Amino acid sequence: MDQKTRTLPHPTAIGEERRAREPATPYDAVRDGARLAALHDLGLLDTEAEQDLDRYTRLATDLLGVPVSLVSLVDADRQFFKSQHGLEGDLADFRQTPLSHSFCQHAVASRQPLIISDAREHPLVADNLAIRDLGVIAYAGMPLVLSDGHAVGAFCAIDGVPREWNERDVRILGDLAAAVTAHLELRRSQAEQGLHDRLTGLANRALLCAQADQLLHAVGGQQPVSVGAICIGLDDFRLVNDAYGAAAADLVLKEVGERLSAAVRGRDLVGRLGGDVFAVVGGEMDDESAAMRFAGRLRDTVSRVAFEIDGQRVGVSASVGLAVAGHGTSGSDLLTAADAAMRRAKSSAGAVRTTCEETGDVAAAQLRLRAALTGAISRGEMHVAYQPIVDLQSGVPTGFEALARWTSPQLGAVSPAVFIPAAERTGDIARIGDWVLRSACAQLAHWRRDGAELTMSVNVAPLQLAVPNLAKVVASILDEHGLPASALVLELTEGVLIEGAAVQVRNLQSIRELGVRISLDDFGTGYSALGYLKRFPIDQVKIDRSFVETLEADPRDVAFVRVILGLADSLGLQVVAEGIENPRQHRLLEQLGCRHGQGYLFSPPRPAAEVVVAPRPAH
Ligand code: C2E
Ligand code: MG
Ligand code: MG
Repeated sequence: MDQKTRTLPHPTAIGEERRAREPATPYDAVRDGARLAALHDLGLLDTEAEQDLDRYTRLATDLLGVPVSLVSLVDADRQFFKSQHGLEGDLADFRQTPLSHSFCQHAVASRQPLIISDAREHPLVADNLAIRDLGVIAYAGMPLVLSDGHAVGAFCAIDGVPREWNERDVRILGDLAAAVTAHLELRRSQAEQGLHDRLTGLANRALLCAQADQLLHAVGGQQPVSVGAICIGLDDFRLVNDAYGAAAADLVLKEVGERLSAAVRGRDLVGRLGGDVFAVVGGEMDDESAAMRFAGRLRDTVSRVAFEIDGQRVGVSASVGLAVAGHGTSGSDLLTAADAAMRRAKSSAGAVRTTCEETGDVAAAQLRLRAALTGAISRGEMHVAYQPIVDLQSGVPTGFEALARWTSPQLGAVSPAVFIPAAERTGDIARIGDWVLRSACAQLAHWRRDGAELTMSVNVAPLQLAVPNLAKVVASILDEHGLPASALVLELTEGVLIEGAAVQVRNLQSIRELGVRISLDDFGTGYSALGYLKRFPIDQVKIDRSFVETLEADPRDVAFVRVILGLADSLGLQVVAEGIENPRQHRLLEQLGCRHGQGYLFSPPRPAAEVVVAPRPAH
């Protein structure tokens, strides 16, 4: 790292003297070997600033009205500022200080918040040199405690004048510290688990893809060599979960991984794609019938011998799908094809089915998909499904989200997660998006004529936002159906804002000037860039369903949701939680103060004809 790290001069004499006087406990706690190992494992000491963390420190200064906020990592003899906002002038480049200048070490040692109104009168820090050298007077610091219990640093706010910290200040700091901790945990798991599945220790999707890519690129020498991916999906695994609990189900998954690892050839890579789906990637799959037999063996290794759970023998069956490809295919496409083959095999009584003919040439399948997509609207193959967005307190729909549906005569029902990206690549997205918007507005006008005061949310793809006159188009559609602009919500994903060219941001602004509201979809999946909430003209955030899914099990998700709700509240944004599937999630979100939600618990997306809307008297 060639970045210059400036350090305050270490006041040796005073430091030594202090060390001798310091009570044993904080000193030992800060230098505890396990704690230091946890800190060092993060790999964040002496690294560059990171935008995500800088957003939290900036937000802290904005929301609390203090000049300085820091993410301080407390090492054995120094504190390193992984993020700082507000250190200016001479101090702007300081990335670390000795512990003689650290208040944060006390929050770390005690693993408790440290709230100080006037440092000069506080017994713990009255002789801390930060008062003299850095002008620190008021301090509020939250320890950053990882899930294994180690406090690696503190998130703090600092003022140069005495200050009484109120309850709101402490709550905001606590929420932001929770978000910073979640970020640190993520970094740690990325470093540790970047390429491995946490439960089984097997390769994860990223590593499987990388391996397939490598084999596919090595292909094409003298001999034609094919690369194969085999997906092994456990059948009805949910039943094992329901009957024996998650811990027992995890043990079965681990054993499946072990059995598969023992059954493959030396050069094959075994991994878990997620949930109950495993995959094996290997080269030399030219001999199709041999590859099929191999896939059959893998299936048998899972299903022939029962698993033992709580002393009971439990049989688990599996379905297998095989895809083989040569040079020019991507590893990711190969795995997707094998996964699709496995799912098809499930519906044919667990038989192994090769998809060599169908998707072996994955690129050709993509081309077939794209060809089928063109003209799908004019052939009447698409329709729009509507999913209610409900008031979580009353359970009453306040609006609907319009979701595109496509049933192709050749390909069957194709998920929007597949055809929307394809349409983005072919350019068909603009036409599809326009059609969905028109259909949804027509439907909304119809429902509102029946007296229902509803809103309509429509997804907008990045490419659509690049159409220069989008605001005009939106205005004319609203006009045509006599709809107020406030009844329409356009949902965008973060990507638009990150990569957003000037035309997109201008479009967004003009659309909002009409009175149409803008919603940030799938929030939390991308960069979780909280700063966008402030910088862009946004009215609503939709918390991605991946957070709702694990809300009950993972306190980090609760912390994340709490931060979003807190910020949304102070910025006047509406929050919608996506993917609510059970009453527990519903209750938890409601308790956290989330007002709106969407999910299968209330209703799946349905064709308009199947949606019943109750007329509500307009107030
Ligand atoms: P999205 O906008 O985040 O839509 C929510 C997705 O979550 C929908 O998937 C919906 O069916 C699904 N969902 C809703 N409640 C639950 C639940 O409780 N559990 C689970 N597991 N899923 C739930 P869908 O319809 O497959 O759409 C996928 C994505 O495709 C959408 O995500 C959106 O990004 C895109 N999309 C769909 N229609 C359009 C469209 O007209 N235009 C554009 N640009 N994108 C669209
Ligand atoms: Mg959406
Ligand atoms: Mg979403």
